[in-house]
Amino acid sequence: MSLAHDPFGPADHIEVEVLIVGSGAGGAPTAALLAEAGFEVLVVEEGSWVDQGAVKPFSLEQMARQYRSGGVTVALGRPAVAYTEGRCAGGGTEVNSGLYKRPPHEVLDAWRTDYRIADLDLGEIDAIADEVERDLSVSYVPGETTAASRALARGAEALGWRTGEIPRWMAYPERGDALSGRRQSMTVTYLPRAVAAGAALATDVRVERLEIVDGTARAAIVTRADGRRGRISFRHVFVCGGAIQTPALLQRSGLHRRIGDRLAVHPTVKLAAKFREQVNVDDDVPVHQVTEFFPHASFGGSASQAGLVALALNDNWRAFNREIIDWRRMSVYYAAITSEGRGRVRAVPGLRDPVVTYHLTRNDRALLGASLGRLALAMLAAGAEEVFPSFRGAPIVRRPADVARLESGFRADRASVMTVHLCSTVPLGEDPTRCGADSHGRIHGTTNVRVNDASLLPTAPGVNPQATVMAIAIRNVRRFIEETRVG
Ligand SMILES: Cc1cc2nc3c(=O)[nH]c(=O)nc-3n(C[C@H](O)[C@H](O)[C@H](O)COP(=O)(O)OP(=O)(O)OC[C@H]3O[C@@H](n4cnc5c(N)ncnc54)[C@H](O)[C@@H]3O)c2cc1C
Repeated sequence: MSLAHDPFGPADHIEVEVLIVGSGAGGAPTAALLAEAGFEVLVVEEGSWVDQGAVKPFSLEQMARQYRSGGVTVALGRPAVAYTEGRCAGGGTEVNSGLYKRPPHEVLDAWRTDYRIADLDLGEIDAIADEVERDLSVSYVPGETTAASRALARGAEALGWRTGEIPRWMAYPERGDALSGRRQSMTVTYLPRAVAAGAALATDVRVERLEIVDGTARAAIVTRADGRRGRISFRHVFVCGGAIQTPALLQRSGLHRRIGDRLAVHPTVKLAAKFREQVNVDDDVPVHQVTEFFPHASFGGSASQAGLVALALNDNWRAFNREIIDWRRMSVYYAAITSEGRGRVRAVPGLRDPVVTYHLTRNDRALLGASLGRLALAMLAAGAEEVFPSFRGAPIVRRPADVARLESGFRADRASVMTVHLCSTVPLGEDPTRCGADSHGRIHGTTNVRVNDASLLPTAPGVNPQATVMAIAIRNVRRFIEETRVG
């Protein structure tokens, strides 16, 4: 049941103490902690409320209702990188795969030094991670993992590569199985907590821009569900719109310095593997990952409904299309890399969505090809009969010797490169040449504009990012609460 309500009523101007823009992995915990500390909080979310479980995961209906632009969004470049963002109450946490990776110490250490982040205490981040794991019921699947997941583990083990099951934020019923979990997204965890503590949540409300005078933001201009404009005055604002929308909103509000210049993603390429036996089950998210090549690359399994298998075969549709009949014996796998490349986000006057670009370096391109080759090898070692890589002109891989043909024929600009991990458009820290926000997320040069989402991560972390986004957000909001109370 929706927790949202219209805070405007007949008025078109309201006042709050703290405005939070966006209700995803950054915004929801920010709202809960502030409300519990006694602040008067309003969360505004551009997307709608959709009850967890009301739409089929990874379906077209989900894309239409819970993704921005139906999931069809692209960073321009050669190749273009397709990306997806959640747009609904709970943001990306409602639609994602739920795979949980603790913030890696080596990454945090490098950020602290390279970006001069003050007071980034690894002990504190670990303690927050413990707390988040409890709050989101982070757990391993009860009993056996699914066939598609086991296949990846089997292939990696046969090659002597490190692999393991990744826990998910899922609540499993007693005696449940791998497919019985209920996703512990923000609409069933931190948003109810925020509302229970007195926060208000308004969905279908988009913040168009902030009014900022002499470095202090006073109000937000919003478009409401019925298309009318509204104005929300506040003392503090936390922008948590995600790594694409946050810099775009800041730019529309006149903030440009080191905002939106350093987009970082995990570019990903895919293949479909066909086995002798049925591996494809509805709603499966394989939970094994291959970590042998961390921090450069990691491999995992993707959602593999018939339509998604078709998408994986699509780059060579004429040659591969007859395979779709065997989709129940097929599953889709990905290789994600830690990229040296960077992208930009630019708000363009008159356009609703920003223009996004991303540049893959020569090394990135080579790493994508090599990683896809290794992934294909693991699939063969797992017993796959045939492997169908997702790039134009790809060979069918049936034996290890074919992997060399795959690698030599791979061109990134012929591949369907995509990403679901978007970060780093407002990096935090004190390095004046690179950081848009200070060590706790306040935009440099402003008194009360804070960012608290994936935009703050200085680089793509090399692992699934939601846990890191949440840990940094919780750290920052606790500091804000301490300072504001003392102040
Ligand atoms: C398909 C998919 C699979 C993923 N799988 C995983 C995974 O398995 N594990 C993992 O760790 N991570 C995963 N991720 C990434 C993870 O979901 C994100 O890192 C995380 O959600 C980012 O949090 P955020 O707060 O920055 O943004 P989001 O969670 O995206 O929240 C931003 C919210 O702000 C709202 N908003 C934006 N602009 C405005 C505005 N102007 N006015 C009002 N509201 C606005 C948006 O509608 C959105 O709801 C996945 C992402 C996707 C899309």
